[in-house]
Amino acid sequence: NEPVCECNTCYAGSDCSQFIPDCAANADGGDPLFLEPFWMRHVASSALVEAGWHRMSYTFNDHTFISKELERIIRKLHAIVGNAVTENRFIIFGAGSTQVLNAAAYALSLENTSSSTGIVASVPYYTLYKGQAEYFSSAKFKFQGDAYTWRKKSDAITNMIEFVTSPNNPDGRLNKQILHGPNVKTIYDRAYYWPHFTPIPAPADEDLMVFTLSKLTGHAGSRFGWAVIKDENVFNRMTAHININSMGVSMDSQLRAFKLLKAVLEGEGKEIFDFAYQTMKARWERLTMALSSSKRFSLQKNNPQYCIFYNRVREFSPAYAWLKCERKDDKDCYAVLKAAKIIGRQGNKFGSEDHYVRLSLVRSHDDFNILIDRLNKLVSEEDGAK
Ligand code: PMP
Repeated sequence: NEPVCECNTCYAGSDCSQFIPDCAANADGGDPLFLEPFWMRHVASSALVEAGWHRMSYTFNDHTFISKELERIIRKLHAIVGNAVTENRFIIFGAGSTQVLNAAAYALSLENTSSSTGIVASVPYYTLYKGQAEYFSSAKFKFQGDAYTWRKKSDAITNMIEFVTSPNNPDGRLNKQILHGPNVKTIYDRAYYWPHFTPIPAPADEDLMVFTLSKLTGHAGSRFGWAVIKDENVFNRMTAHININSMGVSMDSQLRAFKLLKAVLEGEGKEIFDFAYQTMKARWERLTMALSSSKRFSLQKNNPQYCIFYNRVREFSPAYAWLKCERKDDKDCYAVLKAAKIIGRQGNKFGSEDHYVRLSLVRSHDDFNILIDRLNKLVSEEDGAK
């Protein structure tokens, strides 16, 4: 049978070919459908058929929740890309990096005490860290805002976890930790540390690094993430947290991750990284071109860096645009864009000002094209535009 596909929200009709002229460009959310065409070209090598009797147990034969085969292929992937050191490190799996990040915060919080652990991230930050700290255990964690505000108050830090998102969501910067000292622990969120989005200056070697399949292969719906951990005690505490939370990760997700990563590693990964990098690079170029004559809107600037994966200096090709409305009276940049039928995400969701809006560049081909059309129109209507 023909596969039944859902139309993009801007298209209708039985074959999704009717454009809905007034529809809004969706540039919200990080759904990484830009990778869909790659997988459409690799249908056979990525397809999975699972017999009804297969993998019915809670655990593998070694009584763990972790596939050793999958762990091995993840280490191999990091070695080939050169984006993380995994020798003599522990690896843990979670339901997306969302669960892994939560387990990491628990593992780094103080044990057997009623005093809370502070959570910080530098502005603009990915909002999940704040959301998890406030929602899951408000007694155990206290979200303390922008890491920069604590830089000069290091004596006042009793126990603090800094989330470092590198490359950062929303602005693509290769962030480094702001806080240092004996009472500071860091969780490096490396979701976007792949050649798709950024130069890889060196293998990441932090104590606790978190990765996700979502932004690597684009399979956000499979809910598979992992952490690379130096310290055995932290690894044990994270394992205990995930075991109590969900008794490990779905066997089906692990099987799917294994199949996809095997396909990624065909030809040492060159094909998927080239596809993803070229796609994101072309999108960034089209975006900068669309805004090049604008005085009203500006984009983040990240200088090119040497990349050990491509062995040359290369530009950033970020997952998101961190767009700024430059006019003083455009205080609500989200509203300015919304009036022009572009839906982004407000700056305040990242702890920042509403002069900023995040636009997603990782969505489908159609979403991106509609975004560029709407931006071209908006810029052409600027005073004095050519
Ligand atoms: N970290 C960052 C920086 C993200 O942008 C995202 C998803 N947008 C996540 C973690 C969570 O991703 P997932 O749970 O799908 O792994």
